[in-house]
Amino acid sequence: MLGVEDDSLIRKKIRPPRNLVLVMGDQLDANSAAFDGFDPANDVILQMELREEATYVPQNKRRIAFFFAAMRHFCGDQRALGRTVFYTELDDPENRGSFVGELQRRFAELKPDGAIIVLEPGDYRVRAMLEALDLPVEIREDRHFLCSREDFAAMRAEDPSMILETFYRTMRQRLRILMNGDEPVGGQWNFDRDNRKSFGRKGPPLLPPKPSFKPDAITQAVLDLVERAFPDSPGSLARFDLPVTREHALAALDDFARYRLPEFGRYQDAMAGGQPFLFHSVLSGPMNLHLLNPREVLDAVLANPGDAPLNAVEGYVRQVLGWREFVRGIYWQMMPDYAELNALSADLPVPRFYWTGETDMRCLHEAIGHTIHHAYAHHIERLMVLGQFCLLLGVRPYDVHRWHLSMFWDAIDWASLPNTLGMSQHGDGGVMGTKPYAASGAYIDRMSDHCGRCRYDPDKSIGDRACPFTTLYWDFLDRHKERFARNLRMRGPYFNLAKKDEAELDAIRQRAETLRRGLTAETFLSEPNQL
Ligand code: SF4
Repeated sequence: MLGVEDDSLIRKKIRPPRNLVLVMGDQLDANSAAFDGFDPANDVILQMELREEATYVPQNKRRIAFFFAAMRHFCGDQRALGRTVFYTELDDPENRGSFVGELQRRFAELKPDGAIIVLEPGDYRVRAMLEALDLPVEIREDRHFLCSREDFAAMRAEDPSMILETFYRTMRQRLRILMNGDEPVGGQWNFDRDNRKSFGRKGPPLLPPKPSFKPDAITQAVLDLVERAFPDSPGSLARFDLPVTREHALAALDDFARYRLPEFGRYQDAMAGGQPFLFHSVLSGPMNLHLLNPREVLDAVLANPGDAPLNAVEGYVRQVLGWREFVRGIYWQMMPDYAELNALSADLPVPRFYWTGETDMRCLHEAIGHTIHHAYAHHIERLMVLGQFCLLLGVRPYDVHRWHLSMFWDAIDWASLPNTLGMSQHGDGGVMGTKPYAASGAYIDRMSDHCGRCRYDPDKSIGDRACPFTTLYWDFLDRHKERFARNLRMRGPYFNLAKKDEAELDAIRQRAETLRRGLTAETFLSEPNQL
């Protein structure tokens, strides 16, 4: 049971409502534009747990449970406010299982006089389904974001090659965040150079415990349901402790601002064995479900209760005000064609071991292990380990996005696609980043403690102990010389490549081909149900 009343009791009492306010799993904000003019006496809320949404890509059990648990708590909160909610549970025998089917069933059952009111969806696929519906639908702007789709389009019309940094500075000026008059606080727009420290030999300093939210009866019912309904989905529900209510989300935000923000900046690119979270906020999940508003996240970080240095505060502001908004703007400007982009003509599927973690490459074993057990890996693991290996190997960018969407509890289409296909795989040819995020094993060695415990040597590109990242890195530069050699930001790597003689390059090419062939044989399968 969800909350105050179940649907059968509500159905007996209700006359046809005026409007049906549809609240999707990533729109859990009772103050959103969908509720403007909401009249509890005449309007009703509709929420739906759908098998289609939980399976259109294979999904980590934790991700499914996070969505359903947050949706059920939202429903309970709305009912406690006296609002009528029609909530379709996944295993309701009448649940049609698909977005369109269930919406049509509820519309026919409730016969609203007005329309289905809904916020603009976060996923192009869902928007297309809504627009194709043969029902009255009113789609309202999503005020959650700090830059509207129209504003972003206008900025890009003025500067078609607008990069993140330009966008971010404009947003800082517009919203007067970290500004001293017309100048950035501290005299610099970004402090990236201070934010690349590794933990060194001593390893990470004492880490503050990550906030943990014990499942209540509602969440426990969801965990049981997910275990029962999706036994073959990847991931694990063991020790599930995600923030599934607004109160949880606010507590997680406060905890980050107080205890982890101070070290977040300098260590934001560092990695350590057995440490999935380090000083990261882990707030993207609650933000993406709209349990937290980015404005309140910025306010909490700018209030700076933990007395964090400016490089940490600015680094986090850039992620929320810059990167997150930029990614969303690009998604909506460039979909649906964006999903098809494949600038480097990469055509391999995601390696099989991405679903299991069974690899002798220590860095990948660690990052995939974090992903399988926690449905989480922090941004540098996603970009420079998981994403980078696919980039160097030549995996289809859209498949990397699908894997990302399948495995992380915070993944959502508008955020994942530009981050994976664009930023990490360079599939968009330079919209998200003017150069590919490619580096040899030496980078991973510098930023982590993985290489010392690995059977490979990050400095070697040929021979039995050659690090696959290093081999594939030189091979990547060689294969894409035409495209990148004249890129000013790639001058250093191509200068070093030019120092290699033909015999060494040949050996690298051969080893890269052997690696690719080895992985493409039986070990390459796309999705967990093929394991
Ligand atoms: Fe990863 Fe290479 Fe380092 Fe092994 S040696 S951990 S494969 S970067």
